[in-house]
Amino acid sequence: MATVELTLKSLDSDVHPDWCPGCGDFGVLKSIKEAIVELGIPAHKVLIVSGIGCSSNLPGFIRAYGVHSLHGRAIPVATGAALANHDLHVIAVGGDGDGYGIGIAHFIHAMRRNLNLTYIVMDNEVYGLTTGQTSPTTTEGMKTKSTPRGNVEKPIQPLALALASGATYVARGFSAEQKHLTKLTAAAIAHRGFSLIDVFSPCVTFNKLNTYPFFKERVYKLEDQPGYDPADLMGAMEKAMEFNSRIPIGLLYRTEKPTYEDTEPVLRDGPLVDQKLGLDRRTFDELLAETM
Ligand code: SF4
Ligand code: MG
Repeated sequence: MATVELTLKSLDSDVHPDWCPGCGDFGVLKSIKEAIVELGIPAHKVLIVSGIGCSSNLPGFIRAYGVHSLHGRAIPVATGAALANHDLHVIAVGGDGDGYGIGIAHFIHAMRRNLNLTYIVMDNEVYGLTTGQTSPTTTEGMKTKSTPRGNVEKPIQPLALALASGATYVARGFSAEQKHLTKLTAAAIAHRGFSLIDVFSPCVTFNKLNTYPFFKERVYKLEDQPGYDPADLMGAMEKAMEFNSRIPIGLLYRTEKPTYEDTEPVLRDGPLVDQKLGLDRRTFDELLAETM
């Protein structure tokens, strides 16, 4: 069988991104491709799973395995795949509305279990695909289509939530700091355990507050802060809550802990795809027919 040399070009799919020109999601797409090439992971060992939203169209733009699932359900689908086949590098992607709103329970439980997954959230602080309604990270007071008099709800702090829930790699990126984001992405994919990267990924069409200049004025890199220690959970929590005139990006926290796969007894005999079903053919066919 002929092998394809792994390059950025080889990861281009035939489908071109349909995002608005200038959308932050372009930077995230490029970083994921660069990270895959940098880590030398063959495309057939990569699975990208998404929910629904502008950013969730991303799996279609990379020549690797992909699943465009249901709204808020990227994590459960990614979980099933990761447990069934440990050879896959499973990357879940989506937006803030999809992951922190509709799918938030899945998000929390995946971190609690320390599943061996990477989750990249393109956080633009609105629901972009449905034309700019408030999401769980929308700034308080911001006027949107769904809050014409201003948003009265306080935004969640996803990184603090991740730290409190047990994620073992927690980082924040900015799509305009694309090379920095590539480094975070490669380290997240290489990390064994649940890795989250919340990426400021501006929606240039429907969010006129959290724009590129808004973030450029505020973000600073944690690795440039003398003495910052990503092994210090409480220090990371402090940084996770910092969202004002200064906002940190970079690696907030990393630790090593057994993953769900390491501790689940059913997986002691290896990935599910390698285990015998324990069913005769007839029962298997009946079960399959029932679920189709
Ligand atoms: Fe990106 Fe916003 Fe356009 Fe969607 S609507 S593609 S999030 S800029
Ligand atoms: Mg969004």
